[in-house]
Amino acid sequence: MILLHNGIVVDGSGQPSQHGSVLIRDQTVESVGTIEATPDMEVVDCSNRVIAPGFIDVHSHADLEVMQHRPEKVMQGVTTEVVGNCGFSLFPTIPSSELVPAFEIFSGRGEKKWPDAAAYFEDLETSESRTNVAALTGHSTLRAGVSGMRAGKLETAEQREVEKRLSACLEQGSIGLSTGLNEVPSSYGDFDELVSLCQVVKRYDAFYTSHLRDYKFRILEAVEEALDLGRRTQVPVQISHLQAAGYKTWDKMDAVLELIDRASAEGVDVGIDAYPYLAGSAGLTQLLPIWSLEGGTRQLLQRLRDPDTRQRIAAETESGMANRWQDVLLATMTHPDQADLVGKTVQDIADERGCSGLAAALDLVLETQATVVIVSFNQSEENLRKVLSHPLTSIITDGLVTDGKPHPRTFGTYPTFLGEFVREKSWMSLEDAIYKVTGLPAQRFHLEREGLLRPGYHANITVFSAAEIGTQSNYEVPDCAPQGIEHVLVNGSWGVRQGQLQELFSGRPVRT
Ligand SMILES: [Zn+2]
Repeated sequence: MILLHNGIVVDGSGQPSQHGSVLIRDQTVESVGTIEATPDMEVVDCSNRVIAPGFIDVHSHADLEVMQHRPEKVMQGVTTEVVGNCGFSLFPTIPSSELVPAFEIFSGRGEKKWPDAAAYFEDLETSESRTNVAALTGHSTLRAGVSGMRAGKLETAEQREVEKRLSACLEQGSIGLSTGLNEVPSSYGDFDELVSLCQVVKRYDAFYTSHLRDYKFRILEAVEEALDLGRRTQVPVQISHLQAAGYKTWDKMDAVLELIDRASAEGVDVGIDAYPYLAGSAGLTQLLPIWSLEGGTRQLLQRLRDPDTRQRIAAETESGMANRWQDVLLATMTHPDQADLVGKTVQDIADERGCSGLAAALDLVLETQATVVIVSFNQSEENLRKVLSHPLTSIITDGLVTDGKPHPRTFGTYPTFLGEFVREKSWMSLEDAIYKVTGLPAQRFHLEREGLLRPGYHANITVFSAAEIGTQSNYEVPDCAPQGIEHVLVNGSWGVRQGQLQELFSGRPVRT
């Protein structure tokens, strides 16, 4: 038995903290409160430390990393994560050729394939993941497996096949469906297609998570579409990484939150998630018009080489931009010759080359075979505060390990949230903040016996110093180990022990 002794218990419910101890027997919380130490216990002194449930990241892109025994999540205090977001899951099998660049988030998978959810879960079992993992089934993956990168409505037989594959994955334990409606091929799914798929989701009492069709000029319509799916099919709807992306759209956020509040009040089962950063990250191709990506990478590159088509792409890219080229940083360049471009903005490259930002962006897509990953400064601090402090919002990483300078959220989301926004900026109480990373996401995603410190719950626990929690990670140096996180227990076993964080981290944890 392990006794986390004499700490400040913040139990994940949002209720006021209390001084007390937590006793763990095997994989389960035995009791919480005033507990005397006895000789059969391993006693861990937690004085002046917060004892909280392990953090739950319901929007992770670590689909591969969880099988690689990587430390990024557990070192932040995360004990459970949900993968398969934004329409991209590693199962069921997708064809390996002709895919859009966005699928490159799985570029590390090599020849490995997972025909269905069961195969993925089997691999998880044997790979000693450091965290507990639940998985959504991705709409882009489903669609790519059935109709490739073809645009437009699915044939009836194709639609049936997509539904059949989704059913099978849900049957095997996937917890829901994710879409990525501004990325191909998920974007080709119209409202009717999504209704049919959400009806399947409903039969399994599962979830629908929506990476919206638009986060910029048409964000209101996009939020309305997600809410309408909830109204029509009664599925719980999770609006993924909510933000108004780009300064030209910042004034829309109040109306967006009003729409969500109204839907919630009228009975739509809706939740929100968000990461605690002003910048986001995606493939550079996400800034191009959707039609230019039809058919996959090779066809995109052909279109960019054709002067007339390039001009059309350029015009629509420019009119779709809600921020400026100096807001867009190059995060990952796959070719070694271009490694020195990492950390520069698209505008920097344009200035060096004596061309416009737009021309530089399109050239970079061509030069990199559409593999460049960007970090893009999209949000205002005022909107970030509104979204993070909204009562329906869970805090997520949306993180992925890539080469170069990946977004710091992969390494520092929870320390940043609890250090910068909760302690330093006092955007909310510690109890409310812990609820947003434990009790709320557990309840929302029906993660049983998770997210609270209660007898009988799984012993997923994070012990940290509220005065010290934080990180040095930033956009320049993204991958520092956090400070102030002292102990992490995953299912009653040590994920992190005091003083071992650096060891666990062991230098730069980026895939090479
Ligand atoms: Zn997304």
